[in-house]
Formats: sequence, C-alpha cells, structure tokens
Amino acid sequence: RSAKETLGFQTEVKQLLHLMIHSLYSNKEIFLRELVSNASDACDKLKFEGLHKPELYGNDPTLGITVAFDKAARTITISDNGIGMTREDAIAHLGTIAKSGTKEFFGKLSGDQQKDAALIGQFGVGFYSSFIVADKVTVETRHAGSAEGVRWESDAGGEYTIEAIDKPTRGTDVILHLREGEDDFLSRWRLKSIISKYSDHISLPIRMKKEEWDSEKNEYVTRDEEETVNQASALWTRSKGDITDEQYKEFFKHIAHEYDDPLAWSHARVEGRSEYTQLLFLPAKAPFDLWDRNKKAGIKLYVKRVFIMDDAEQLMPTYLRFVKGIVDSADLPLNVSREILQESRDVKAIREGCTKKVLGMIEDLADNRADDFAKFWAEFGQVLKEGIGEDSANKERLTKLLRFASTRNADATQNVSLAAYVEAMKEGQDKIYYATGETWAQAKSSPHLEVFRKKGVEVLLLTDRVDEWMLSFLSEFDGKELVSVAKGGLDLGAMQDEEEKKQAEAVETDYKLVLEKMKGVLKERAKDVRVTFRLTDSPSCLVADEGEMSATLQRLLKQAGQ
Ligand code: ADP
Ligand code: MG
Repeated sequence: RSAKETLGFQTEVKQLLHLMIHSLYSNKEIFLRELVSNASDACDKLKFEGLHKPELYGNDPTLGITVAFDKAARTITISDNGIGMTREDAIAHLGTIAKSGTKEFFGKLSGDQQKDAALIGQFGVGFYSSFIVADKVTVETRHAGSAEGVRWESDAGGEYTIEAIDKPTRGTDVILHLREGEDDFLSRWRLKSIISKYSDHISLPIRMKKEEWDSEKNEYVTRDEEETVNQASALWTRSKGDITDEQYKEFFKHIAHEYDDPLAWSHARVEGRSEYTQLLFLPAKAPFDLWDRNKKAGIKLYVKRVFIMDDAEQLMPTYLRFVKGIVDSADLPLNVSREILQESRDVKAIREGCTKKVLGMIEDLADNRADDFAKFWAEFGQVLKEGIGEDSANKERLTKLLRFASTRNADATQNVSLAAYVEAMKEGQDKIYYATGETWAQAKSSPHLEVFRKKGVEVLLLTDRVDEWMLSFLSEFDGKELVSVAKGGLDLGAMQDEEEKKQAEAVETDYKLVLEKMKGVLKERAKDVRVTFRLTDSPSCLVADEGEMSATLQRLLKQAGQ
C-alpha cells in the first residue's frame, strides 16, 4: 500500500478555486447541486459499465445517493454507491481541469468579480464548488471492482493529499468541513429544500435521515430511518403537466452543465416507426468550444431509462451541435455501440424527428419571441447557416430562419430575413443583392454599393466566415435569384432606365481607345476593362467574373493555405 502523498494542484485549479471562493459567495448553496449531480453521474456510469460487467455491482445492486450532516463535527457528507474513483482517477479529476474550453475560459477572465462569476457559472463550477462553503474537503472513494479505497483531502491551499484507505463500500463520500459561519447548512430542512430546488429531477433516490422531536432535549434529533427526499423518477418519463418550468430548467442545468436558463425546450413522446422520448433544449449561450470541430454533441442517449452514452453525435446533425438534451429509445438494444448507432435505421428516424423538433422550436422563437430569437441568432446563427449546405431536406425551413445585416440598418445587427428583404424590394427589382466582405465595415463601404445606394436598393451585407460557403448552396429565395453586387456585368434589369443604357453605350464608344489602352497595360492582371455605372464616387472597382470565386472567398482559401 502506498504512503500518504502531497501533490500540487494544476495552476488552473488554483486559479479557479481562488475565483470560486471569492466570487460565488452570493449563491453558495449550488455546491450541493454540483455534488449531487456528480453522484448521479457516477451512478449512471456504473449502470452503463454494469451492462457488460454485472460483477461490478457486487452485493450492492441498488444505486442511490445520501446526504447527511453532523452538527457536532460541522460536516456535510454526500455519498453515492456509483462507479467511484481509483487513485489515478482522483488525481486526474480532482487535481486538474481537463475540460475543453479551459484555455478560452481563463483567457476571458477580466478580474471584475461580477463578470467573472457569470463566466465561472458558464464554464461549470463542478466539484471545486465544495470550497465555497468548506475550508477542508475529504473525498473517500473506492472504484467498483477495485479492492483498495482512496482518501483525497485538501484545504484549497494549492495542494492536496492522497492516501490508500480501507473502504468497505463501493462509491464515493464527499465530506465537507464547513467554514466558520456556514452552520446554517447543518439543518435537515435547509438541505432538503436545496435538494428540492435543484435536484428533484435526479432519477435516483436521494435519501436523508428522518428527524423527530425530542421533548427532553427540546430539539429535533435524527433517527436511523431514512427517507427519499426527491421525486426520483427520470424527469422525461413524467407527463408534461406534472413538470414545472423550474424543474425543466434545473434538469437542463444538470445535463448540460450550464448555469443559465435555457431559451426553450421541447418534450415529447414519439410513437411510430421508432418509439422514443425526447427532451431537447436550446441553450441561451454558446459554449466556449462551439467552433471546435471535435466538439461533443450535446445529446445523451438512454435506452429504456438506462443511460447509454453522452455525446451521441448520430442523434443530431452537426449544425445543431449546440442543442442539449436526452433521447430515451424504447427499441434500441441496451448494448448499442457508436458503430451500431451509425448504421441503425431507428437512429436515422430519431435524428430526423429530433431535427424537426429543434427547427420547430427555433421557428417558434422567430415567430413569437422576437427578443429571444435575436439572442439565439447572435449566439448560434453562424452555426445554423452550416445547415443550408448540410441538410438539404430542411433547407427551405432553414432558409426562412436566416437573418442578415443589411444596408437598411445603421449597425451590423443581423435581423433582416430574406422574406423581409423581398417584401421591401423596389418596383422593378427582381433579384436579391448581397455584398460579402471580411468585416461589416468593409462590406458596407464597398464601392460596389454606390449604385444601389443611389437607387435606394437594399443590399444584404454578409461577413460571417461561413457565408461564402453557404451561398454556394443558396442561389434563390422565393423565385428570386441571389446576386453578388461584386460579380460580372451588373444587370439591374427593369431598374435601369433607358436613358442610362443609352448613355452607357455612348460612353463606351467615346472611350473605346482609352479602354483598349488600359486593357493593354493591365493584360497580365485583368481579364477585361469596362465602363460602368456601378460607381458614383469611386473612379474604379474590381469585379469578379461571372461564376468565378469572389475576392473574399479567394482570400479565405489563401488564409486556409489552399
Ligand atoms: P464534471 O462533473 O463537469 O465532469 P466536476 O468538477 O463536477 O466536473 O467533476 C470532475 C470529475 O470528478 C468528474 O467528471 C468525475 O470523473 C469525478 N467525480 C466527481 N465526483 C465524483 C463521484 N461522486 N464519483 C465518481 N467520480 C466523481
Ligand atoms: Mg459535475
């Protein structure tokens, strides 16, 4: 057996601990939500591994969580008989932060306590939130299937100790030694109400000891008998009418490891070719790693209420990777693997069904909750645009959800839909015009816009990285062609009056010699030189050939090393 060792926390953990202790004091009670959540996750993991290795359960097959407190010792203990941790697990999970987005998170910290508190929440407070109320935390744990227990202990001072112990039961006890002044938490009523508030939806029983009035001592004393203090049924299996908005929100925070309320959710039991229940959420904030190509999908897969896997990417298209939630299938086999998921027709049906539900939720925001839709678009609009190229089956619905910056606005806000554009078209206008650029300011000041400004024709300003790519899948809307203001001979159709056309022809003849000369000089660099009426202020501009890559796309490809 190895002796007691003292190890240092990873620098990021030290920073996080410091921040947590100093900026989350206004919402201390969340430590319990986090620890119960971890206990529940640990039981889910055991359930999953136990599918293949039933021996992991030993003689203790019923999973559960208990919350206890000791007034004299001033401790609160959260216990579970889930998967537990080995020594290596404890060092890896309770000594470092390995989440994706860690670097971005620390880069964003400003030193402003309020702002940072919100950021920490978004990042996920997790286990380390114990130290908000405790000045010392002891974790005693034994991994299912391992004979040796481990004790991890720290006072948040930059180091922790780790040693082998005897632990007769499987799973984890987290013992919080409360800070001075936190004795309020040493109350059954207080702890129970925090559990109801944050952890009611947890599908396992959370138990506490009962209390009874002792008239001799004149106070409540704990009895040996326990009772379950939460509903302890998987939230999504209850009927909608029995679930409050608060419960949905807490469930979201639990599964998504999020701090903010979701923008919307959709809960439905689907019957038909494939039978399943889905509970899907639109988050209010984009995660730090939204642009990470390897970002995990946000859907947890259950089969008949048994947790199977996180990040079931086959259940949601990539462009909806920000959606969080669960799918509980009645048909899939319990031993389903990622490989099976890839080929299953049931899974394909679920994915199509979930995609439709999510689009429905977003449409509902667009139609009925303009402010929330604007928030949604600002956070996730760029990702949704990927769907135009990725999901041809839903392209029409997605196209209607698109919002663009436009010359009608004084700023870069993306709030003009294609339908709104069409509605505001000029008499005689039969095309949808757009300008692309790397920034809004650049697109807005493009000389190509001059003629449009003169004629009062609206132009959409497309400056997101994904726009050019998206446009290659989007050539028309409502029978109207989408046309770049920077391409080819600009044909303003009926908006160009006869007068102008005649003038153009006349100028063309007058300047014939000049043009020939210019073409000669520029022949290495320009394909053609033309007289134009596009410009009102600038003397000249570059245009791309019809069907050729735009300047912006060329630049992007160059940046990408192509
Ligand atoms: P998260 O839950 O988001 O992963 P936490 O900080 O809450 O982050 O927990 C960190 C890790 O510590 C968990 O992912 C898990 O591996 C481990 N852990 C924490 N609590 C327990 C527990 N009760 N049983 C087993 N492992 C745990
Ligand atoms: Mg956690």
